Amino acid sequence: MIFLANYVIVMGFIGLLLNIPLLIIILKKNLLSQWDGVITGALIIVLIFLFSPILWLGMIFFFFTSSFLSKWKIKEKESTNVEFAKGPQRDAIQVLSNSLPAILFGSMYFINEVIPILSINMSPSTALVSPWMIASFTAIATHNADTWMTEIGITVKRSPRLITNLKIKVQHGTSGGITLEGTIAGVIGSFSLAVIYFLGIILTKTSLIRFPFEILILITIGGVLGGLIDSLEGATIQGIYYCENCQKETEAKIHKCGNTSKFHRGYILVSNDFVNLSSALLSGIIVGLVYFFLSTF
Ligand SMILES: [Zn+2]
Repeated sequence: MIFLANYVIVMGFIGLLLNIPLLIIILKKNLLSQWDGVITGALIIVLIFLFSPILWLGMIFFFFTSSFLSKWKIKEKESTNVEFAKGPQRDAIQVLSNSLPAILFGSMYFINEVIPILSINMSPSTALVSPWMIASFTAIATHNADTWMTEIGITVKRSPRLITNLKIKVQHGTSGGITLEGTIAGVIGSFSLAVIYFLGIILTKTSLIRFPFEILILITIGGVLGGLIDSLEGATIQGIYYCENCQKETEAKIHKCGNTSKFHRGYILVSNDFVNLSSALLSGIIVGLVYFFLSTF
């Protein structure tokens, strides 16, 4: 087990060094609202670096692009009175529910691929193409697609349509509402995660027999699918509240106006964090399994 201890010490140290500048940016730009979010985020990001530096790249890409996208056109978003369930800043629970699926799949990757490879003294990058890693990237692609869909979608002037019935127009900020522009942004958001993984494979594997294009396609589709599952859950089972003060639907128990909102539809236990977590888990499992079967036959 000495090989494992060596790996953890070396990678943990590099991970810490690389993440210090990122933490400074996070604190300076105020991207995480509370200290619990900052500490949780720091621990997660070092852990993910241990699993795989390529996965770590994907994670920080998601974190920074979605943080900046949340703040982009913030004046406009506020003036159209759009709901901020996710908010431009994130707390520990949000950070966790946005990274738990990737951590779960990533730890399975570490146990099933990295440890066996390390034990025979080979570089972990030779095991980078794995259903577990594909599942992990799909989970991050789902969060990225969902965030890009939401943040781009709310800047569109036209009303969103309900995912369960496209004939019905809904107010901006309604859970389950989708727009064409938002969906296209979701495809790009998902595709960019697939590209990071794809480039990671190309750059670390010197003797690649062929380009793994199916991975690009699978993760892109998986991330968009996950984003749509997220919207679908928002339209059906997610617990939605209603603020009588502002006469608006909201995902928050305490509305941003300070008023306590009333339970309105869905299931009270299905929170926004649960929806984020379950959609990424589901899309990760589906895409991981599809790749597993594709590569077996
Ligand atoms: Zn209100």
